Amino acid sequence: MARCKRCGREIKWIDTPAGKHMPVDPDRKPYREGGGEVFITDRGEMMRGSTPFGPEPVDGYAYTPHWATCPYAEEFRR
Ligand SMILES: [Zn+2]
Repeated sequence: MARCKRCGREIKWIDTPAGKHMPVDPDRKPYREGGGEVFITDRGEMMRGSTPFGPEPVDGYAYTPHWATCPYAEEFRR
């Protein structure tokens, strides 16, 4: 498992359709469609959604980009 060079947390690299590698948090999380949060699908596609609260039905599971959770995100966002 790879680790973030900045915060040391485990990350996973996802290949995007554009041929790039996107660092994401290793665990997939439930999401609902619509919302202001960014999720990355298994295929590396970026989509918008929101985190469900409580027992709401979810629309699927997707990865969270690491820059959304990394405490040093401001430093490595280019
Ligand atoms: Zn990090």
